[in-house]
Amino acid sequence: MSPPAPHRLVLGTGNVHKVPEIAAVLAPDWEVVSHDLDVEETGATFEVNALLKARAVRDATGEVAVADDSGIEIDALDGRPGIHSARWTDEQDWIPRVLRELDGVPAARRTCRYVCAAAVARPDGTEAVVRGEVEGRIASEPRGTGGFGYDPIIEPLEGDGRTFGEMTVAEKQALSHRTRAFRALRALL
Ligand code: IMP
Repeated sequence: MSPPAPHRLVLGTGNVHKVPEIAAVLAPDWEVVSHDLDVEETGATFEVNALLKARAVRDATGEVAVADDSGIEIDALDGRPGIHSARWTDEQDWIPRVLRELDGVPAARRTCRYVCAAAVARPDGTEAVVRGEVEGRIASEPRGTGGFGYDPIIEPLEGDGRTFGEMTVAEKQALSHRTRAFRALRALL
């Protein structure tokens, strides 16, 4: 007998790095198809923004929709850039800006976390949102070419000293904020 067909979920993102990470967590029960929709992130929290995206995709497709909103909180910068991680400066300046702003800050005070809120919005109007986090430290310089965004300067505290940029996709996936958020969401789907 063949296994039951997976249920279909529409994931609201245009980020090619997020799709395989999220699809791997939701397989084999859920088949993930991506839908890139431009949604204004007007919320004050990761959770509100994730829900805004999930609702917009649900409304556009009429299907069960999931979405995430994520970013990095740097303790020495009072939690900045947080929900503004993608837009506080040009993409090529994301890492240089962090290193400039942390210039002279010792290792013990270079703590940070990646945060991801994952939301589901269903056609029947029900919805849910959950959060995943991974604690880390900002390296003194970028290392590695894997992942995306801030990965070359983030050393997860649960790791072996390598940055996310120095890890394979599977190694990053095992620790990531996004994996954690979507595992929690999977339990509610
Ligand atoms: P979002 O698409 O609105 O969730 O934007 C999140 C932003 O936070 C990204 O553009 C990156 O700047 C940063 N970010 C979130 N998750 C990660 C990650 O796993 N690696 C590197 N940067 C990340």
